[in-house]
Amino acid sequence: MTNAQQKQQEDTMTFTLPELPYAQNALEPHISEKTFGFHYGKHHQAYVNKANELVKGGPLEGAALEKAVVESHKQGGALFNNIGQIYNHNLFWLSMSPNGGGEAPAPLLEKINEAFGSFDAFKEAFVAGGMGQFGSGWVWLVAHEGKLEIVKTANAETPLTDGKTPLLVCDVWEHAYYLDYQNRRADFLKVFIEKLVNWQFAVENWNKANG
Ligand code: MN
Repeated sequence: MTNAQQKQQEDTMTFTLPELPYAQNALEPHISEKTFGFHYGKHHQAYVNKANELVKGGPLEGAALEKAVVESHKQGGALFNNIGQIYNHNLFWLSMSPNGGGEAPAPLLEKINEAFGSFDAFKEAFVAGGMGQFGSGWVWLVAHEGKLEIVKTANAETPLTDGKTPLLVCDVWEHAYYLDYQNRRADFLKVFIEKLVNWQFAVENWNKANG
């Protein structure tokens, strides 16, 4: 297939793999290029491919991603599982930055202190949230009615379908960390919240929900 043919095929697909704002080795040493390549290029791509296959000819063909998440969730099953995973991974890549970590900026720091008592207490609660998700899933910082909450979800579930606004998310499926951290999920979560988290992205999401 020529590049032009490939481009034309992608243009007619409901879902596409998003371009990344950084290189696949940019999060090293915290996330290796190998982990990133498998996770983005194989796992995330597979959810995109499967969702496109399943959505074809149905009422959600051509739908915007967030609408497709909410609508497919009403039925559940394989279509939702694949669409939910596209949405969750899109947010996960943007929840990290090569210059990530540090303390949350205004106005989130104030909201974090209000909800969790202190920034350190928030970080502990986030790691505990990810550790408390038995099996595959996600741990989120969300905004709900002007307040912050930590939410964990199983498999492809997302707080979007509960009417909550995701600010940032960490993937705690084993494929997210096993090559780099093996069974040490807590170490991965600590690195995520200390070194990788993109607070600017969380602030943008907060401002969109509360602006
Ligand atoms: Mn994943």
